[in-house]
Formats: sequence, structure tokens, C-alpha cells
Amino acid sequence: MEEVLRKWKAGVPGGRFGRRNGELKTMEERDFFNETTEQRSHTLTCPKCGQSGEYKVTWVVRRKRAQLPRGADERDRAKFAKAQSYMVRSDEKLACANIRCRKAFEISSLQSVAFLSD
Ligand SMILES: [Zn+2]
Repeated sequence: MEEVLRKWKAGVPGGRFGRRNGELKTMEERDFFNETTEQRSHTLTCPKCGQSGEYKVTWVVRRKRAQLPRGADERDRAKFAKAQSYMVRSDEKLACANIRCRKAFEISSLQSVAFLSD
């Protein structure tokens, strides 16, 4: 018991102590962001046939929350202040829309992570 108390005192900067699912509580990405899946239109060019067109690409969008959840400490607040909304591309390949081609191609012209300005 003393051992536990000693660890507890040593490992709790600022006196923060909380538990979630039996683990010491730490703020994570999901506490900072609201996650949604969105489709966005992009003009892409098929490398096989050279035809460009509008394609729907799926992104996982993480928008920064308006405020931090309760229980945030100074370190969380500092991290949150620097956090920025961003999205991660979940599609890697698309099928060409040209009916004479129809080949799958990799989406190499779009980055896989993009920051959002809002
Ligand atoms: Zn094509």
C-alpha cells in the first residue's frame, strides 16, 4: 500500500488523478477532436489513360473541439492550444471513371494528411 501511495504521489504532477477503464487518465486525440468521415470532390488524373475527372475521396476529418473536456491540466491545455483541425485520407486507390480504362490507380496527387484552416 505504501508503495502504491509513493508511486501515486510521484506520478501525479499538479495533483491530477483520475481513472478511466482502470488506466491513469490522460488526454488523447479523441478528447481534442470530433471525428467524422466525409467525402470530398477532387479533380484527379488517371496515370494510365491520362483522363482527368471529379472523384469523391473519403477523408477522416478531425475537427478541433470548441473547448477541452473537464479534467484538463496545463499540459493538456498547451497541447490543445497548438492542436489544429486536420483530415486523413482513407482512400488510397480509385477506379478510373473512363469506361474505356476503368483501371485502379493510386491517389498520388493528394497528400495523405491535410490541415484544415477552420
Ligand atoms: Zn484511366
